[in-house]
Amino acid sequence: MKSIPFIDLAAQRSRLGSRLDAAIAKVLDHGAFVMGPEVNLLEEKIAEHCGVPNAIACSSGTDAILLALMALDVGPGDAVLVPSFSFVAPAEMVALLGATPVFLDALEQSFNLDPLSIALGVAEARSADLSPVGVIAVDLFGQASDCEAIEAAAEQFGLWLVCDSAQSFGAERRGRKVGTVGKITTTSFYPAKPLSCYGDGGALFTGDRELAARIRSMVVHGMGENRYDNVRIGINGRLDTIQAAILIEKLGIFEEELALRNEIAASYSARLAGSNTLATPVVENGATSTWAQYTLRLNGIDRDEFRASLQACGVPSAIHYPAPLHRQPAYRDYPVAGGELPVSERLSRAVVSLPMHPYIDPIVLDRIVGAVVSSAEACGSQAR
Ligand SMILES: *Cc1c(COP(=O)(O)O)cnc(C)c1O
Repeated sequence: MKSIPFIDLAAQRSRLGSRLDAAIAKVLDHGAFVMGPEVNLLEEKIAEHCGVPNAIACSSGTDAILLALMALDVGPGDAVLVPSFSFVAPAEMVALLGATPVFLDALEQSFNLDPLSIALGVAEARSADLSPVGVIAVDLFGQASDCEAIEAAAEQFGLWLVCDSAQSFGAERRGRKVGTVGKITTTSFYPAKPLSCYGDGGALFTGDRELAARIRSMVVHGMGENRYDNVRIGINGRLDTIQAAILIEKLGIFEEELALRNEIAASYSARLAGSNTLATPVVENGATSTWAQYTLRLNGIDRDEFRASLQACGVPSAIHYPAPLHRQPAYRDYPVAGGELPVSERLSRAVVSLPMHPYIDPIVLDRIVGAVVSSAEACGSQAR
């Protein structure tokens, strides 16, 4: 049997067909490979997409976080609260700037940051003689974080909020679109993200004009009036024009793709409901998800065996994320809110992600669901 792709970019490519080739050829012809007209156009389109006045394209989702932290003047002596059950980039960029990441716990249901752990993180930072300055909320697997509760806690402790929406661009929560929450929102266009380019790319969103101007300058070596006027420390953080041209084409079908992802997630959840060994992902009331990942939580079955059994049926799976960051060699000496993060530990032992992209056809979906059900039964009975 043919094996099933975890993410099928080829299906999207064949759907877009010659439009992509034409968009790339246009850049090859005009030759403005860096800061060409497509970059501006993309910025306008993505700003409009989420209804925020300023969007700045950049070289990756990680650089977007770096630029956000640089624009907020994060440095040594500062503590920035970050989730431990997450991709590494937020903690990594905080540490890179000489500041201290303080790890927070997650919510059992949504996998996102637990707003209640913010107070614990602030206390932990203060007891280490650090000044807590901000919190980075990561919208895991496509669902926007509980922004109201996080904003309230951030305000109580005088922290700024940055949203790492690398997985959730296009989602919303209680009518507030991703990109409009917090001081700055960052996203990524890495190939595996819901809106992706053919290489690395990212963007920042902010409602604050002054911050936007600082970020724009920092993207190009801290430039002032012109490129050789260096008014601040920056980086080379630009998005390539070719990637912008690709993103403009993909943005044209993005809403439809999000609808398809939602249909696929709904069929997975309907058909896997009622199992006592598999918990399907929960989208909270008033929230939407971009379904960057469709992530199950296993209950009482051996994950390695379960995955091996899926693989034997030709169904790939992935673990996001196998270890919480505070347990990783590079991060284990940083402070942990409340001294332990039991939910993050539990989640990283129990999660498994199934294939997810907009073009999973019904026959393939049947095969995946069949393999998941039979693997869960086989591994579950052994566990008992
Ligand atoms: C992918 C991702 C990033 C990093 O994006 P890159 O474009 O790969 O640098 C940051 N945060 C989260 C939550 C991500 O999923």
